[in-house]
Amino acid sequence: MSEEYNEEYKIETRCIQSGYHPGKGEPRIVPIYQSTTFRYENSDQMGRLFDLEESGYFYSRLQNPTNDLVAAKITELEGGAAGMLTSSGQAANYYAMFNICEAGDHFVATATLYGGTFNLFSVTMKKMGIDCTFVDPDASPEEIGRAFRPNTKALFAETIANPAMVVADIEKLAAVAHAHGVPLILDNTFPTPINCRPFEWGADIVTHSTTKYMDGHAMCVGGCIVDSGNFDWEAYGARFAGLTRPDPSYHGIVYTERFGKGAYITKATAQVMRDLGSIQSPQNAFLLNVGLETLHLRMERHCQNACKTAEFLLNHPKVAWVKYPGLPGDTYYERAQKYMPKGTCGVLAFGLKGGRAASVSFMDQLKMIAIVTHVADARTCVLHPASHTHRQLTDEQLKEAGVAPDLIRLSVGIEHVDDIIRDLEQALQYIP
Ligand SMILES: *Cc1c(COP(=O)(O)O)cnc(C)c1O
Repeated sequence: MSEEYNEEYKIETRCIQSGYHPGKGEPRIVPIYQSTTFRYENSDQMGRLFDLEESGYFYSRLQNPTNDLVAAKITELEGGAAGMLTSSGQAANYYAMFNICEAGDHFVATATLYGGTFNLFSVTMKKMGIDCTFVDPDASPEEIGRAFRPNTKALFAETIANPAMVVADIEKLAAVAHAHGVPLILDNTFPTPINCRPFEWGADIVTHSTTKYMDGHAMCVGGCIVDSGNFDWEAYGARFAGLTRPDPSYHGIVYTERFGKGAYITKATAQVMRDLGSIQSPQNAFLLNVGLETLHLRMERHCQNACKTAEFLLNHPKVAWVKYPGLPGDTYYERAQKYMPKGTCGVLAFGLKGGRAASVSFMDQLKMIAIVTHVADARTCVLHPASHTHRQLTDEQLKEAGVAPDLIRLSVGIEHVDDIIRDLEQALQYIP
């Protein structure tokens, strides 16, 4: 959970300084609390922790100090009230929804989503009795509004959709969500809080796959949830009974009454994490924190390199199309300028005139740029979503997700951009 949010520090400073503030003689660097358990003096102290009457650590399936220090840093980067780490981005998105949805409930999500999230929402959560309606992210507020039902609990979107590269109109989505009395939950993985801070535009909760830019070195799978503390759960008390009515698994505690702006994250920790246990290991949290210290430097270089690479591709005779919201002329350029004026991210999508077959053979010719199921780390990499991350989707679902069959997802790293472009150039020579 977050410490007090320091309004004075610029985001670059927060990357370095936030979260952990050692006292006299304490370790300078966030320590790895490699311990499953924590010691207490007497049985009553421990009992009070189990009743949430006191805050403190007791078992690392629920909370661990290393994780909380790192979560506090991410919470300050986002400008939120409280945050928590999870073992993966998938766990973050699942917990973010499951914390306020149960069997019989419904939520609305944009169709342009990361493949794993799409499967989670359309298949796995459906099996749990939680229904999701997918909408076109660029539909009008009225059209999106029509997807809402009396049992709808949230609206979910990605700030920059992976890999469709659709930039969310955050203010529009927040207005629709709030008009229906539900929070807007945004997966902010691609821009990171360095480039976009969704709470400033009305989003209520953000999630991250920290596996991507935050870690930045492809070392650890991880996730994070940050709550702005702004959504008024009590205004819709019956709809969000899990937060506003007594919790029988904690002797009738009412989260909103007891924890105020920390209610949502406390419930997600004390109930969902307690019972499902997708906790991040403190080792991974430590490594994530090392990544966070250079996030601001890396994002700047990722964006510079991606802009130059997008321009190169756009001007290449064998390239049919390029989608990069940082590129003037892109469908989402203006919107990106509004919500993320410093830059978007290092990921771009493109297609070749030779279509799907050419895309696949082009990738096989790359030398430095590797084919990996990853995105958003220091090394430039490529993936063909229709054959890889999104291969479970039907043609119709691929179309809705904004994934053309020939789409190549290129994650531009922080090598020298000349070397990235040279590799692309030599591989393009081989295709007709
Ligand atoms: C990768 C990714 C996820 C899933 O995160 P994992 O850490 O792989 O579980 C969720 N959302 C987005 C936008 C992603 O890119």
